[in-house]
Amino acid sequence: MDTILVVNAGSSSVKFQIFSIEGDGTLQRRIKGQVDGIGSRPRLRASDRTGVPVADRAYPIEAVADVPAAMLVAGTWLRDELNINPIAVGHRVVHGGPDHANPVLIDHGVVERLARYVSLAPLHQPHNLAPVRTILANFPDLPQVACFDTAFHRDHDALADHYAIPRQLHAEGIRRYGFHGLSYEYIARRLRQVAPKVASGRVVVAHLGSGASMCAIRDGRSVESTMGFTALDGLAMGTRAGQLDPGVVLYLLAEKGMAVSTVQDFLYRDCGMKGLSGISNDMRELQESSDPRAAFAIDYFVYRIGLSTGMLAAALQGLDGFVFTAGIGENSAVIRGRVADRLSWLGTTLDAGLNASNAGKISASDSRIPVYVIPTDEELMIAQHTLALVVKPKTPAQARERMS
Ligand code: ADP
Repeated sequence: MDTILVVNAGSSSVKFQIFSIEGDGTLQRRIKGQVDGIGSRPRLRASDRTGVPVADRAYPIEAVADVPAAMLVAGTWLRDELNINPIAVGHRVVHGGPDHANPVLIDHGVVERLARYVSLAPLHQPHNLAPVRTILANFPDLPQVACFDTAFHRDHDALADHYAIPRQLHAEGIRRYGFHGLSYEYIARRLRQVAPKVASGRVVVAHLGSGASMCAIRDGRSVESTMGFTALDGLAMGTRAGQLDPGVVLYLLAEKGMAVSTVQDFLYRDCGMKGLSGISNDMRELQESSDPRAAFAIDYFVYRIGLSTGMLAAALQGLDGFVFTAGIGENSAVIRGRVADRLSWLGTTLDAGLNASNAGKISASDSRIPVYVIPTDEELMIAQHTLALVVKPKTPAQARERMS
């Protein structure tokens, strides 16, 4: 059985999935797992396609001290115990810089180029590239593909790609990149199947997870995003403030005497829902809390989604559909209901029963704007891109199938 390994590596965990390539060229998810607690309490956990656990084992801290070690643990387990030898590996890489509008086959030159973007995404890019290097060193003939969170947004109009700063800085790479692109690309494709007419129009997608952003999509292509140079911009998130006057950062540096690294930590880890509520970064906990600070944080989250929808609808010059996705978007009927209420001036009315059941289409039959819940699948997107770059389609039908 030919398989593809999908890797999503962060600072303290390596998540992985195995997809089999079926006879008709489609992909089937077989294994979903992760090595987490890297450098603290390392643990390998995995389940099969039905969610039944197939591994749960702890490792001594020195055995899995870093991301490369975690990759080796996962790879060894797949190979030695499940007899899985993937024909290719697809990686989630957060930053493709200005030049990568598509996934790319990796060689040493590509790794070095992508390493240049570490300063653009210091918390993610080094960890994304670590397993790439490990595999390149240990299995130089195994094809690897980098799939970027920025790629889907790369053909934004220049107006959406610029900050109003001297052009030289834009040329250096200070641009509005946008993120969560693999999620939006998947949603755009799914929407073509779920609601083709809406998908060919003007759609706002809200990816609401621990990280949260929104994207304006016209006929399947991204035209605007709430995120910009980094994944700090836009909506308030679990621990990130979202849109913030840069003057606040200057104040923290100059008046509070905070070191740059302290400000970075603060902006990524201590703001957003966590900072506002003083209780939790987790939306479930905030919804369950009776503390007024939790209620305020939720109000703020919803308010900013409303503001951003106005901005994105202006970029699209109208709105034909709205999609919720990611942890909060897929699971929280409360947040979806609150957002739809805020957007009622645009014409969103939910069917309470459909919303409560996380149905695919949750708007009422008389809603001017149809509203959908579409579970995202960034890993499938990565597997599809990897397959497309590594294995040529055998028939035109297969080629079409892959792109749908
Ligand atoms: P990420 O992949 O960015 O880490 P997820 O997409 O998994 O994040 O989303 C995590 C968020 O989803 C958390 O804030 C969590 O509380 C929220 N979430 C998950 N299920 C629910 C639910 N049933 N109700 C409200 N929030 C939920």
